[in-house]
Amino acid sequence: MRLHFDTALCIRATSKFSECTKCVEATNSLVRIDEQLPVFAKGLGVEGAACVGACPTEAFALSDFSVTEFFFSFLDSKVRLISRKLNIPCLSVLSVEHLISLALASEEPVVLDLDDYDPQSHLYGVIVSRIEEANFVLSSISSKQLEVNTQPVAEASSEEEEEAAADRRAFLRNTASLKGVMKHKQEFEQAVEADEMHHFEIDPSITQKIRDKHLPDKRKILFTMLKHTPKPERYEVLAEEDVSFVSQKFVEESCTNCQICYRICPTGALSSDSKFSLIHFDAMLCVKCRLCHDVCEPDAIQLQPGFEVKEFFEPTQRTLATFNVRRCDECGNYFTSFEGATMCPRCIVEEEEAMFLHENAKKMGSSNEA
Ligand code: SF4
Ligand code: SF4
Ligand code: SF4
Repeated sequence: MRLHFDTALCIRATSKFSECTKCVEATNSLVRIDEQLPVFAKGLGVEGAACVGACPTEAFALSDFSVTEFFFSFLDSKVRLISRKLNIPCLSVLSVEHLISLALASEEPVVLDLDDYDPQSHLYGVIVSRIEEANFVLSSISSKQLEVNTQPVAEASSEEEEEAAADRRAFLRNTASLKGVMKHKQEFEQAVEADEMHHFEIDPSITQKIRDKHLPDKRKILFTMLKHTPKPERYEVLAEEDVSFVSQKFVEESCTNCQICYRICPTGALSSDSKFSLIHFDAMLCVKCRLCHDVCEPDAIQLQPGFEVKEFFEPTQRTLATFNVRRCDECGNYFTSFEGATMCPRCIVEEEEAMFLHENAKKMGSSNEA
């Protein structure tokens, strides 16, 4: 089982201004950034799985394991324990959105088995913080919570054992992509190029894929699960810093309508109209990748201090800014007019240059006459 990286889905491939390091932080630098893109040892497999659950745009995956397939197979089975001894290569492949969706979709409490993780390890901390965040968000939308197991699973009676074994067999049959889970460690150790790094390039053939708007599967799953969740009696507002996977925004007056943020947003959360006369924002399409903030030169796009839980149940498209877009008196092209300007910035510069040249020519002419 190896780590797979899709360059076209990484927001660092979208813009050189991206400062995303979520995969680096989640893996404690097993994944690094080199020349703008993530790099990692060629033999890296499940040991680097935490980046799968961390990447906002699902650029990382494990070969032979699909988190989306796992999600549906798990719900189809009677098993309610998620454990690397049983049905998953590592709990860290699950994002906060997956964890919330699993809890919402399951009648019985979902239990995450942390028993065989070292509580002192970075990986343990990453998994626990995702579970805590998921439970924090869950507490504002439902009575369900994820449970954690930190004890060796108690021995079952022979009847229970047989039932559990049947469940496991059914689960593994359903999840063909889990073949080889048990081999991952051996494969990793066998990888000879332990210090040889996978480097990736922004190939012209993937340029179109980079431009395409793409909503990650985990967000589609969360949408679906929320649709089947009764609305809470009252909607809370969660502190922005306590929610890592979604955000609300506002735009300050310093915005120049440079168009970059809404053209570059990987999911289409930010958008405009055909004349680029406004900025629309759909919070439920935002994956909090921060690219819009990283590219905004005047720092005009900002995070709202709170996330309104109402957005989960009644998603809205908000208009963050409107602009006076008109045709330039000189060239006829559309531009954003500030303070009643009638000429576009390019024509203003050209006119200033022409005036400057004209003044110079006049000065040279009068000095020649003298
Ligand atoms: S977390 Fe994802 S989007 Fe961010 S740098 Fe890593 S691969 Fe790219
Ligand atoms: S918010 Fe920033 S990046 Fe977006 S259009 Fe305005 S100035 Fe440009
Ligand atoms: S709105 Fe900004 S933070 Fe949200 S997905 Fe788009 S670029 Fe990323």
